[in-house]
Amino acid sequence: RLEIRNITRQFNGRAVVDDVSLSVMPGQVTCLLGPSGCGKSTTLRMIAGVDMQDAGEIYVDGKLVCDTVFRIPPERRSIGMMFQDFALFPHLTVAQNVAFGLKGRAGDHTARVAELLEQVDMDGFADHYPHHLSGGEQQRVALARALAPRPAILLMDEPFSGLDNRLRDEIRDHTLSVLKSAGTAVVLVTHEPEEAMRMADEIALMRNGRVVQSGAPYNIYNAPKDRQAAAFFSDIN
Ligand code: ATP
Ligand code: MG
Repeated sequence: RLEIRNITRQFNGRAVVDDVSLSVMPGQVTCLLGPSGCGKSTTLRMIAGVDMQDAGEIYVDGKLVCDTVFRIPPERRSIGMMFQDFALFPHLTVAQNVAFGLKGRAGDHTARVAELLEQVDMDGFADHYPHHLSGGEQQRVALARALAPRPAILLMDEPFSGLDNRLRDEIRDHTLSVLKSAGTAVVLVTHEPEEAMRMADEIALMRNGRVVQSGAPYNIYNAPKDRQAAAFFSDIN
């Protein structure tokens, strides 16, 4: 379970993330939705621990992971990350790529890797190389790698934007079912309202570094707080 309290991040005197609070329960997906530059990726970077907030606190499973003086390093936060370009290693097989997610852990990972490949419906591809896979298949492998260490929280930054439209809905649904069965708390960043409507249990609508409205997708869709929020959803049909 992830809890963010009042985090703020300033660059050159400007708050690009401004007093943002969020909480995500296990097995739930919260979407940070908003236009380019509103502070979505900066928020994820602070949760991951690769950037540090100027104010506020972040908790994982009730335990403080960072405030403005105390900071647990990224690799000890039980937080996984997945970004839009998947970044599979081209010189490693599918199985080796997934095993990379377990790097630094003792023991034989063969059984765990097989289990993960089965979870994402990629058993049979263990010895294939990434460049022989379709975009959707690469995405599945990246998901398996991200989930390998059983992170309590998974951060996803526009993870479907590299996929063609035809595949995207199918992959969104598949990803969602894998995440739900793993029980991971997910923060998914997107600038596409349609994606948020499809995937989120809760949407946090961001603008200029602030969460301007949050709630269940259909509540926001049916009762946008202001004209700008309404306009943002208006091209969904
Ligand atoms: P997009 O949808 O385009 O990815 P975003 O919502 O993820 O946008 P961020 O990357 O979080 O936006 O950036 C928010 C604002 O903070 C932008 O105006 C960006 O230029 C600024 N910013 C981000 N990182 C830095 C930095 N290291 N130094 C200065 N400004 C930064
Ligand atoms: Mg971004």
